[in-house]
Amino acid sequence: MSSTHPTLAGRSDSAGPRRLRVVGGGMVAHRLVEALRDRDAEGEWAVDLYCEEPLPPYDRVALTSYFSGSSAADLLLGDGGFEDDPLVTVHLGACVTGLDTAARTVTVAGREEPYDAVVLATGSSAFVPPVAGADLPGAFVYRTLQDVRALEAWVQDRVSRLAPLAPQPPVRGVVVGGGLLGLEAAGALHGMGVSTTVVEFAERLMPLQVDEGGGAALRRIIEELGVEVLTATATAAVEAGEDGRVGSMTFADGTRVDADVVVFATGVRPRDELARYAGLVVGERGGVVVDDGCLTVAADVYAVGEVACIQGRTWGLVGPGNTMAEVVVDRLLGGDATFPGADTSTKLKLLGVDVASFGDAFAQAPGSLEVVYADPVAKVYKKLVMSDDARTLLGGVLVGDASAYASLRPMLGAELGSDPNAWLLPSGGVTPVTGELPDAANVCSCNNVSAGAVRAAVCDAGCTDLGSLKSCTKAGTSCGSCLPLVKNILNAELKKAGAEVSSALCEHFAFSRAQLFDIISVTGLRSFSDIIGAHGAGRGCDICRPVVASILSSLGTGHVLDKDQARLQDTNDHVMANLQKDGTYSVVPRVPAGEITPAGLIAIGQVASDFGLYTKITGGQRIDLFGARLEQLPAIWKRLVEAGFESGHAYGKALRTVKSCVGSTWCRYGVQDSVGLAVDLELRYRGLRSPHKIKLGVSGCARECAEARSKDVGVIATDKGWNLYVGGNGGFTPRHAQLFVEDLGTEELVRTIDRFLMYYVRTADRLQRTAPWVEEHEGGLDAIRAVVMEDSLGICADLDAAMAAHVENYRDEWAATLADPDKLSQFVSFLNDPDAGDPDLTYVEERGQRRPATADERRLIAGPRLEIRPLASDPTEEKVSAP
Ligand SMILES: Cc1cc2nc3c(=O)[nH]c(=O)nc-3n(C[C@H](O)[C@H](O)[C@H](O)COP(=O)(O)OP(=O)(O)OC[C@H]3O[C@@H](n4cnc5c(N)ncnc54)[C@H](O)[C@@H]3O)c2cc1C
Ligand code: SF4
Repeated sequence: MSSTHPTLAGRSDSAGPRRLRVVGGGMVAHRLVEALRDRDAEGEWAVDLYCEEPLPPYDRVALTSYFSGSSAADLLLGDGGFEDDPLVTVHLGACVTGLDTAARTVTVAGREEPYDAVVLATGSSAFVPPVAGADLPGAFVYRTLQDVRALEAWVQDRVSRLAPLAPQPPVRGVVVGGGLLGLEAAGALHGMGVSTTVVEFAERLMPLQVDEGGGAALRRIIEELGVEVLTATATAAVEAGEDGRVGSMTFADGTRVDADVVVFATGVRPRDELARYAGLVVGERGGVVVDDGCLTVAADVYAVGEVACIQGRTWGLVGPGNTMAEVVVDRLLGGDATFPGADTSTKLKLLGVDVASFGDAFAQAPGSLEVVYADPVAKVYKKLVMSDDARTLLGGVLVGDASAYASLRPMLGAELGSDPNAWLLPSGGVTPVTGELPDAANVCSCNNVSAGAVRAAVCDAGCTDLGSLKSCTKAGTSCGSCLPLVKNILNAELKKAGAEVSSALCEHFAFSRAQLFDIISVTGLRSFSDIIGAHGAGRGCDICRPVVASILSSLGTGHVLDKDQARLQDTNDHVMANLQKDGTYSVVPRVPAGEITPAGLIAIGQVASDFGLYTKITGGQRIDLFGARLEQLPAIWKRLVEAGFESGHAYGKALRTVKSCVGSTWCRYGVQDSVGLAVDLELRYRGLRSPHKIKLGVSGCARECAEARSKDVGVIATDKGWNLYVGGNGGFTPRHAQLFVEDLGTEELVRTIDRFLMYYVRTADRLQRTAPWVEEHEGGLDAIRAVVMEDSLGICADLDAAMAAHVENYRDEWAATLADPDKLSQFVSFLNDPDAGDPDLTYVEERGQRRPATADERRLIAGPRLEIRPLASDPTEEKVSAP
């Protein structure tokens, strides 16, 4: 990164651009520089951005994603460092140490640099309470990329130090602080396999965002995940172990817990030291005092973001900071914008749990009413705060299911227009509102973008896709929770204007999934980087990466865990198993058509018994084995593969099962061999990756015992052959499959299903099941029938060939994994000793099998071994080859 732009060095005179020095390269500074460069068409300002950290501005809000694989490069904001902009110079690792408002200079690396204006955007530092031992090795804070890297390295080091001990104890971590940051840190530790305790001084978790009911629900959910929660608990001291590192922690009531790592997430303090040193006014509780135009008491010195004290307070969220940045940009360009106040609404996913809080969440408005829906079984708590006539929405708290947030938050201060309960009940009004949303409604609180601004960007600025809308309005560029609503408004406006609604997959690919499928299939490109390099832009996102992975798999190109493909996969595909609520996995071997030999049953039973797995027959007529730890998966699969089983793809967007009734073989009503056909179909389509999961069913007569009409493809026997139905599904929005063709012979039936499935795989949208695909296909079912039965598009030969290739190239993913040491090497977790008594994996016995202990059960037992059946010992290498 350049230190100073050669053509502009030393200029702060009237001959060229004026010199703006921005101190601090955080999120708000980035927004400010970006907005200034967007709006300063004349090049009035040249910017020097000083970043104390060794990186250009990055997304601090997404810091925790570092633990799920995001690299520093992934977290960089915008294009990273304004590298191509001649009017912006980014100084990395450059701490501004002085500000002289009389001489109008800032001091960097001992040099005094003149300014025409300065913006202080120095953010906050993590606050560590003054407890003894808080500075011991092994005590961390959670604010910067350097912090999380150091934390990760520490945990890995502890794991390797404990490894020689037998049995290997778990690494124990304590997070001090049960607020937003504390729970993010707890999620990071938990994800690394650390046995985690959260300690909160207040009576409940997230006391600033959620009420008592929400706090209790959040606690219950988090405890069920295996994280211990101590509320109303004050930390007294951190003690060193024998090696001089963090060893334990004592609380004010004298109790103690062992700890190998401690993370302090106890709030932040504004970094106002430069301002104090320069004699600027700071607030009582810190922060540089600014007026409504973000100007400090010194001429041309502004402060924005977490370091600014505006309207009597500091703001610990990125949204208000971004608003301040926009105000300052306006002022720098001669405007008179003022800070309008800010929305402190938040929506987060903490430890995988949705939490949202908005408006008057604590019902402080006089006469306000609270409408509460709580379902402890479904782990959901929702509350709306309404005006005294129960009409106007004032605020709310959502825990466990925050899907209504995007729709509700913009309605703050508006009449809900229906019974508030309708918004809270599980099948309630969670469809994002668009048409009825007033222009003033705030759609994106991080960037303060109203519904009207989104509409104007579509109607006036000509934005026709999400990407251009995001860069034009900034909506959805921070936490992203408003994107579904923003996309809906975009589509509604485009439709209203009679314009074409963009089918672009995301901002990185201007193509629909179907177009991308054709591109990949025709070009023969086989890696994500090649594909996005040639046909997309940027680095990809959570939408396009799995889509490309799925398309590559549908085309039969390599294994899901091949190096380039592995990092694109969704969580379950990544480990070829289904993640369960306690962090273990379930294993589902394929049982074609539900037909299984006694020997097969015994083999599965023996594996389940040896590994202590809970077994359950699924609705798809196979056996699900629950409670496997990551590192056990290869050993379990080795046994299953040896017994003749293969992957059931229960984790993938792929063919799941072909359910069948016993048919004419045993049933006196049966008119065809439904089991035989179902077995053939399941073996034919196994491993076929698709936009969503696919299920089939075959019934031996019209009595329909296999419930084939609730499947994507249903086959029902007739006296003359088979009736074929398509587009059915169960689940959230059940659909009955529709009759596609009647009385087909078996060969013709299979060819028709081949074509139907392959056409769906190629042309459906991402995550679109067959029912909506049929509905949204131009011309509906009739058009699809014409393609498949009459070859109206002339593609049937292609579809047939693609399916033939799929059948021929099919390989069992698990067998291939077992044969490849590289792929096997990723099945390692930190907790690799089953006898360690890790409380995260505590089980109780129920109806003859073990299940995860509930939080209450865990609390009831002081030590993990009392009344609890510990995790069964792991029959690893020695036993793995036993029959
Ligand atoms: C894990 C985590 C999760 C979060 N989640 C959310 C969320 O979901 N929603 C939300 O709204 N907010 C969230 N936040 C808060 C959000 O990140 C901050 O509000 C936002 O980053 C503030 O931006 P800022 O630019 O004011 O300060 P910062 O991002 O802190 O940037 C300030 C920068 O200035 C640098 N600096 C300081 N002094 C100097 C100096 N003298 N010279 C040069 N550089 C200097 C610092 O090193 C730092 O890089 C989260 C924060 C964390 C840590
Ligand atoms: S669908 Fe017909 S053939 Fe199949 S089990 Fe039921 S009654 Fe028997």
